Amino acid sequence: MKTWVYIDHFQGQAIPASWEAVGLGKTLGAVTALVFGSGVEALAKSACEYGADEVLLADDASLADFRAETYASTLSAAAAAGTPGLLLFPTTTRGRELAAMAAIDLKTGVLVDVTALEAKGEEIVVTRPVYAGKIMTKETCSTRPYVITLRGRAFAKPAPQAGKTGAVTRIEVRGEALTSVEGYARGESGVSLADANVIVSGGRGISNNPALTPPAGLDEKAAEIWKAQQGFAMVNELASVLGAAVGASRAAVDAGYIPYAHQVGQTGKVVSPNLYIACGISGAIQHQAGMRNSKVIVAVNKDAEAPIFKLARFGMVGDVWQIVPALTAAFKKKLGK
Ligand SMILES: Cc1cc2nc3c(=O)[nH]c(=O)nc-3n(C[C@H](O)[C@H](O)[C@H](O)COP(=O)(O)OP(=O)(O)OC[C@H]3O[C@@H](n4cnc5c(N)ncnc54)[C@H](O)[C@@H]3O)c2cc1C
Repeated sequence: MKTWVYIDHFQGQAIPASWEAVGLGKTLGAVTALVFGSGVEALAKSACEYGADEVLLADDASLADFRAETYASTLSAAAAAGTPGLLLFPTTTRGRELAAMAAIDLKTGVLVDVTALEAKGEEIVVTRPVYAGKIMTKETCSTRPYVITLRGRAFAKPAPQAGKTGAVTRIEVRGEALTSVEGYARGESGVSLADANVIVSGGRGISNNPALTPPAGLDEKAAEIWKAQQGFAMVNELASVLGAAVGASRAAVDAGYIPYAHQVGQTGKVVSPNLYIACGISGAIQHQAGMRNSKVIVAVNKDAEAPIFKLARFGMVGDVWQIVPALTAAFKKKLGK
């Protein structure tokens, strides 16, 4: 199968799922990497080290910022000429947008957020979660090329082979962007839940320690937020011992305990770490939609009937204020920290 993989990146830093896509592509045969941007020769070199056999490089000042119009037109023109059988993208915001626009240009369908892929000759059947991950569907596409976006961390990332090279062919930029980027500013948090190997998340249940006395003069809401901040300090401590990212339920975000960037779930981030520790989270279906693909789920909740326990490999029924600091101390000891 002639496979092309779009290497998604921000300012030359590849999204790890791009290399996962190259790794998957290699299981099907030779891989052509598509590297678009400005000053991205180093990325083309990395693509070869991660396994790409050749690279189509569109390196131009007009591609310095991701603009869907120019990126999609460049990609579609290259694909129309090169006729790949399969185009793979990571399921990032940029990847989804580009895949959809390229699929329209190429008059084909698009299969998004795929977690498994089977190829028999030139036929591909993919598996993807639907209904907030409650059901997995198997789907295929009747038109060619297949355009598929892959869920991050669903496929193995290959080890790079230093010094491995491949042919790099420069291609022409097509299309014109209708909008331009005026600049970038750091967001409210630098959290990268999507790539995290370990995530410790807090829910509404970490806000109710009766032993804590808020500073005088706070109204009821401010006192609740102050208590929740102590709860997230406890969650942060466990996360920092484990080198983990911090996640949260929507209830915690909506109550103002922690910024939205940390929200896991249907209307937050979809994550699939090796280890997900849910502290004081009930495990509503909308939260599960974001974390049910985690490899090992650990739940701490005082309610033995909480739905999160149905999903958890390890469950601890009890008060987060006793269990989470005990876990932190135990991991500190075990990890020599
Ligand atoms: C359209 C839609 C989209 C949504 N999207 C999302 C989403 O993206 N992500 C998301 O998370 N939710 C989402 N929700 C909300 C979701 O339905 C739940 O309301 C939310 O997940 C509940 O958060 P929670 O588990 O923190 O709070 P709760 O449901 O209130 O659960 C708190 C848990 O903490 C436990 N607890 C309390 N005190 C302690 C203690 N001291 N020690 C141990 N355990 C304790 C309780 O037993 C309870 O199980 C969405 C809802 C809708 C309708």
